[in-house]
Parts: sequence; C-alpha cells; structure tokens
Amino acid sequence: MRCQARAHRLGKHNIKMSGMFENPLHTDFLSQLGHDSGIGFTTTCSATPLQAPHVAVFNNSLLQQWGLPFSDAQSEPGVVASVLGGNVPWPDTAVTSTASVYSGHQFGVWAGQLGDGRALMLGELLTLDGHVEVQLKGAGPTPYSRGGDGRAVLRSSIREYLCSEAMHGLGIPTTRALALVASPTTVRREVLETTAVVTRTAPSFLRFGHVEHFAHHGDHEALRTLVDALVERYFPELSGLVGDQRIVGLLGSVAQRTATLMAQWQSVGFCHGVMNTDNMSLIGLTLDYGPFQFLDAYIPTHICNHSDSGGRYAFNQQPQIAYWNLHALAQALAPLMDNNTQAAGQLQQALAPYPTLFSTHYTLLLTSKLGLAAANTHPEDADLINDWMSLLARQGVDHTLAWRNLAATSQVAAPKPNNNPPAALSMLFNDLPSLHMWWARYIERLQLLSEPEQLSWGHRIKATNPKFVLRNHLAQDAIIAAQSGDWSVFNSLKTVLDTPFEEHHTFNEWASVPPAWAADLSLSCSS
Ligand code: AMP
Ligand code: MG
Repeated sequence: MRCQARAHRLGKHNIKMSGMFENPLHTDFLSQLGHDSGIGFTTTCSATPLQAPHVAVFNNSLLQQWGLPFSDAQSEPGVVASVLGGNVPWPDTAVTSTASVYSGHQFGVWAGQLGDGRALMLGELLTLDGHVEVQLKGAGPTPYSRGGDGRAVLRSSIREYLCSEAMHGLGIPTTRALALVASPTTVRREVLETTAVVTRTAPSFLRFGHVEHFAHHGDHEALRTLVDALVERYFPELSGLVGDQRIVGLLGSVAQRTATLMAQWQSVGFCHGVMNTDNMSLIGLTLDYGPFQFLDAYIPTHICNHSDSGGRYAFNQQPQIAYWNLHALAQALAPLMDNNTQAAGQLQQALAPYPTLFSTHYTLLLTSKLGLAAANTHPEDADLINDWMSLLARQGVDHTLAWRNLAATSQVAAPKPNNNPPAALSMLFNDLPSLHMWWARYIERLQLLSEPEQLSWGHRIKATNPKFVLRNHLAQDAIIAAQSGDWSVFNSLKTVLDTPFEEHHTFNEWASVPPAWAADLSLSCSS
C-alpha cells in the first residue's frame, strides 16, 4: 500500500487522450463531504501496481449509455489497462483515490470496523445518467484491508462483472461493471490464482454500514453530516423535511427501495449469499457480488454460500434478513432523533410498511410473470401463485425454465380450456397429474383476460420471464475458458445476459437444466 503518494504520473508519458479519459474525474461524494466538514469519511490511498495488466473486457455499451466516447479504449488499450488496473492515475486529474470507512453486522453479529478493504474510489464522472462513482475492486490493500491482500481473483472478478451486467439485463438495480483488467499476478486463496481488477460503477456505493459506523462510535456530528448529505443528494424528495421527520423519511425511503429490490431478487431466483449490513446499499442497489447464485431447481431453503452453515442467508430468508438489516439501520439512525421518548416508535413506524411493501410488490411481479394483467387482479390469484410455487418447490423444478415455459417458444395466444401444458413445461415435472390440476385452474383464469390480453399473453410471458440467468455452471464455463486465455465464452455469455428475455437460439444449451457436475460447485466468502 502506498497511501498519500502516486506511483506513476501518466503525464510524463505525454499521451493526449481522447474519449473516455477526456472526461475529468471529480472528487467523490464522501471525500468531498469529508473535505468540506473535516470529518474522516475516507482516507487517501493509491492502488498497488499490477504486473502486466491487460484489458480483458471493456463495457462499451455502458460508456454509450453515459454518452461518453470510447475511442481511447479501442486505440489505447495499454493506457486503459494501466489506468483501470491501478498502475497510473486517471489522466490529467487532480483527484486522489480513496477508501472509505464503514462497519457492520456480519451473519447477525456486530463485526466492528470493516471499510473498503479492496475497493478504491477513483472519483466521479458526470454522465447522461448523472454522477457516477468509479471504483477499482482488487487494486491492492487499503488502510481498511485488515491484513487482507486487497486483491480479487480472476474467478470472482468474472462472476462480479457478469452478474452485475446480468442483473442490469434483468432490469434489477445494481452496481455496473465498466472493465475487467487481468494480470498474471497471483495471490493465494485455497490455491494460487491470478488476479484481476474490476472497474465498477454506481451512483453511490454507500452502505448501511457507513451509517452504522459513525453511530457505533457515538460521532453524532459525522452521522448528521452523512445523513443530511445523503438526503440532499440521493433522496432530494425528502430535502424539505427537517429534524425527526427527515430521519424517519429517509428510513422509510430506504425500506421502500429495499423492499422493491428484495421482491425483484425473489422473482428471478437470485440468492445474494452474504447479506451483511455492509453489503446493503443505502440507495437500493444489488451490491458486492460474492458467493451469489441464481437458483437452478426451485428449492426455497437453498443456501448458496458454503460459509453460511446456519442458512441465515438462504434464498427464502432474504426478504426477512433485509428487514433485520433495516432494523440495524434504524438503530444507527436513532441517535439523530430529537424526540427521544418517541424516537423508537417513530422509527419502528417507518419500517412497519416493509413487509406489506415487499409482499405487494412480489405478488405484482409474480402476477405479471404468469401473464395475468397486473392491473386487473382477481382474489383467487394469490392462491394460484402460491400453489404454483409450492408445486415447483415440491418437485424441485427448474425455476427459470418453469416460468419461461408456461408458453411454448412461438406461442402468443393464451391456451384454451383442455389445451395441455407446453411439452417443454411438462418435461420438467415428475408428477404430471399435479401439474395438470394446476394448469386447468390457470387456463380457467386466463379465460377471464380481455380478448386483446389473451391474444398477447405469450408476449407477456416472454417479456417477464428470462430465458437466461447467470447459472453457476455457466459462469464456471466462462471462468475456465478465460483462465486459459479464451474470453469467447465470457463474451457470448455477456451478450446473452444483456438481453436475457430474447431467444438467442444459438445458445439454447445455456437455457437448460445444469449438468450433474454443477452440483459440486462450491462458493464461499473467499474470493
Ligand atoms: P465481503 O465479504 O467481500 O463483502 O468483504 C467484507 C470485508 O472484507 C470488506 O470490508 C472487504 O473490503 C474486505 N475484504 C474482502 N476481501 C478482501 C481482501 N482480499 N483484501 C482486503 N480486504 C478484503
Ligand atoms: Mg462487502
């Protein structure tokens, strides 16, 4: 670690950059806040150079979305590798890179100070999407590394890159990946592995743990400064609120965003794996991809993280765990409440809508996944949904395929009474009579749709149920190939996951149940 000093100055290479690097980096939100208030939210810190970095992947479409040109990524890959590998600073910038301090609850227990142990904030870009923070993940140790090497192995970097883009493709709020820079530098995990740096971006990387940190230390000035700035920048709709109302409003808004996010995760079978409070985004993003997994078979109690022996973060626990985490956030906000006698009750009230918000949104998503008109629900829809999910769970049916195959590939009009389920659906079930019983009820319900709704039912099924998700074994295939220098699997997978609702017939094999070896894949916190 070489804090306070930069190893290289790109200026001396005398390269005139065009494209992405022409855009100045601005000081990031937390560092600016620290600068203005004199409070230590971040520490200046430089990356540790990587041996022979090269750009393995670059996300042109993200730059396009931001309205930034990418000519330098094409014409100067060596410079891009040096900058996004952490070897040299962003050209012509006076902004220093930083790591931020946070704390948190891990596996339900207070874990004390954590912080950006392997994430380095370069600064912010001003884009068509507004301010976007740019971080390097795996660029070497920081003051918060707690003995760790600050690196990320290629395997986990590929998983982070693919999954953040896959979540975006599914329409789920997430941090994004801009680039993956690989290097022959090795680090030891269970075995020696090569490392990589993912450039990840988000409007904000603030976590519940940032608030918890200053509350735990009784630093109410820092807590107040952080919360006020958070509201002004990321929750402007609350900026008119003052005093307790502002705190309560903030907690309610975070709870609302979290409830929506949890509903989205559950609806696509996404299991995060490490929902510690330091991995919970204050602005409702999916954050920190580690031992995550998309369900293959629908097993509600599935635990994807092998370090999670107690199943705290099992798939079906996630909405409840998010609620637990929101309570930890509420406790951290409590010291800011003026009216202490009523504070607990008011904060509790801000959280109270969470279970209903979650279940309403989840039901809405599942209703549309069944191709039913969400605006025109029927009282018996809840039973229809519950019985469908129970059917999948009882038989361990593949989650993604079951939903997608409600309609056959080219089927657009809703099935009529006495139509059988599509063959692709039936073949997923062992107990066909149970499927047929549920199917008969489903068809009956479909007949209640208006005629135009019935005629477009198949389109709705295909538009709400992805054909492709980042199954573990697909990520593994991409990793194995990339580890031997072949990025073609990664690139094809990324293309498919960018638009996962489309057919991509060439890649039909990626929309089938996993091979037997996938069951032996083991994911833990170590990455
Ligand atoms: P995670 O489980 O990845 O969310 O990480 C928990 C904490 O450990 C965070 O503060 C990380 O920044 C830190 N951390 C994880 N891996 C490393 C590493 N290889 N080196 C340093 N810090 C790490
Ligand atoms: Mg983390």
